[in-house]
Amino acid sequence: MDTSVYVFAEDLAEGVDQVLDRIIGYGAAGVTIAAAHQRARDVTPHGATRLTVRHDGVRVPLPDGLFERLVPPVLPELPLAELRRGGLAVHGWTTFLRNASIGERHPEVTVRNCFGDRGAPADLCPAHPDVRGYAVGLARAVARQGFDSVVAEALHFSTFSYERCAVPLGPMDAFLFGLCFCHHCLRRAADLGVNAEVAREECGRIVGGVLAGDSPAQGEVTRAALTAYAGPEVVAYARARSETVTTLVADVAAAVTEEGSELTFTDGTGAAKGYADGLPPAGLAAHDAWQFGVDLVALGDIVQSFAVLAYARDATRVADDVAAYQRSVGKDRELRAVLRPGTPDIAALGETDATDRLAAKVRAAKAAGAQAVDFYAYGLAPLNALARIKSALG
Ligand SMILES: [Zn+2]
Repeated sequence: MDTSVYVFAEDLAEGVDQVLDRIIGYGAAGVTIAAAHQRARDVTPHGATRLTVRHDGVRVPLPDGLFERLVPPVLPELPLAELRRGGLAVHGWTTFLRNASIGERHPEVTVRNCFGDRGAPADLCPAHPDVRGYAVGLARAVARQGFDSVVAEALHFSTFSYERCAVPLGPMDAFLFGLCFCHHCLRRAADLGVNAEVAREECGRIVGGVLAGDSPAQGEVTRAALTAYAGPEVVAYARARSETVTTLVADVAAAVTEEGSELTFTDGTGAAKGYADGLPPAGLAAHDAWQFGVDLVALGDIVQSFAVLAYARDATRVADDVAAYQRSVGKDRELRAVLRPGTPDIAALGETDATDRLAAKVRAAKAAGAQAVDFYAYGLAPLNALARIKSALG
């Protein structure tokens, strides 16, 4: 079974040899190293610093001619020769459409809600032609470095994000609030026969009502519930977004292939559902991916490999999520289950039970059809949690 450990570039400040020695010691076959990432501030329990600031940017050279108006910030390059020396596979983890540095410089390429606000500088809209060109350029720049694969994160629409909100928004209200109605999204939906302007007005009416004191909607977002709550035009608009994403992923996958690497597509739904507490709501990630504009059935015809973010405490849930992805993308596609070796997916357990739980999830993922298991993430997990990987793989 193929395996890797996700590693942030900043984690290498511990010393490349030390990081590789540990990962080899865990029995992993590769590292999935951040070649392009978004800004963050993380507690790094065994890092060179215990609180680590990460910046938006890329850690590979930017060849001439790949970028036009949108250019990513350039950070110190990854020590790829050193990383390869350990004999491990090296995958290039690439965050595509989350980049606040670009969004702050070019707000016109960020998502725009039903009220016309552009309040999410990190969220670049996949319908904007410049963003699409940027994504292809970034894919080429990373793939050209000879990574065993390019692991794409955030190559789809994002969820609604904010920092403070004193209004009780239900999941469906938040979904409507997060839909992009920029000029390009409206036009693409209209080209598919959707009455996009009606959809925008309905979103504004519903979310505006909740902001004015109407009761928020209850329950998870499903197509049926959303149709009842917001009407068929809104659902048609939301579903039309998959054409925007599918065609973008096709362009990126083709570019990666041309550069001699291959794309692993990561759908963020599993993280949206389980990242905070490892207790994802009932709907399986593969069934809810449409909410990000991700049509897994269509992508199964385009992409050979998929990462399944199995952020769940329960091994049965891991199996259910992997199996649902396999049904969507097809049996002959590679599935890589991404597991977290520590909290919150493995919480409040003694060390023996914690290791057993991780091992059970590895077995569950494999039995459900995963060909690979990756562990997230070296710099975030304490050493005792990382140490469980060895037993779990054994
Ligand atoms: Zn848009």
